[in-house]
Amino acid sequence: MELLHRRILEDGRCFPGGILKVDSFINHQMDPDLMVQIGAEFARRFESAGVNKILTIEASGIAPAIMMGAQMHLPVVFVKKKQPKTMEHMLVSSVRSFTKNRTYTVCISADFLTAADRIVFIDDFLAFGNAARGIIDLCNQAGATIAGMGFIIEKAFQGGGDYLRNLGIDVQSLAKVTSLEDCRIELA
Ligand code: 5GP
Repeated sequence: MELLHRRILEDGRCFPGGILKVDSFINHQMDPDLMVQIGAEFARRFESAGVNKILTIEASGIAPAIMMGAQMHLPVVFVKKKQPKTMEHMLVSSVRSFTKNRTYTVCISADFLTAADRIVFIDDFLAFGNAARGIIDLCNQAGATIAGMGFIIEKAFQGGGDYLRNLGIDVQSLAKVTSLEDCRIELA
C-alpha cells in the first residue's frame, strides 16, 4: 500500500512511549480515498477466507471495516466500549488500552455474534494485541470462528503481532512500523 506508507511517513507524528499519531488522515480527520483503498486491500487479502461477517471495535476500526464490508457485501458489527442499557443478550469482555492507560469493558450483542459466524476482525492499530485479545474472548464466548485479523498499522516492536501469529491467527497488516525510536518513523 504505497499511498498508506507515503501518508504515514509524510503526515504521521511520533509521541513518547511508542505512540504514532495519524489523526490528519485516519484517527480524526479521515481521507476517504485512502480509506476506500484500505477497504479494497483488506477485501483482497481476505477474499478466500470464507467469512460471513466483519467485526471491529469503536471508534477508529469502523471506517476501514465498513469500507471492506462494502467491497465484500458483508455485514459489519462493531464492539462497543460502553454498555448500552437497552442491549439484550450481551457478551462482555475487558480490554486494556495502553494509549489511554486504563481498562474498559467492551460488549457485543449475542444476536450479532454467534456460533454460525466466521469473522475477520479489523482495527486501525495493532500494538500489544489487547483489543484483539478482547475480541478473541468475545468470539470464544459466542462460539464464533476467527478467520483472520487485519490492521491498517502494526507496530511490530510492541509484540501484538507475534502473539496473535503464534496463536495461528492469519494477521494482515497494511503497514508495519518497525521503530519509532528518537521520534523517527521506520517502516518495514
Ligand atoms: P492494542 O490493543 O493492540 O495494544 O492497541 C491497539 C489499540 O490501541 C487500537 O485500537 C488503537 O486505537 C490504539 N492504539 C495503539 N497504539 C496506537 C498508536 O500508536 N496510535 C494510535 N492512534 N492508536 C493506538
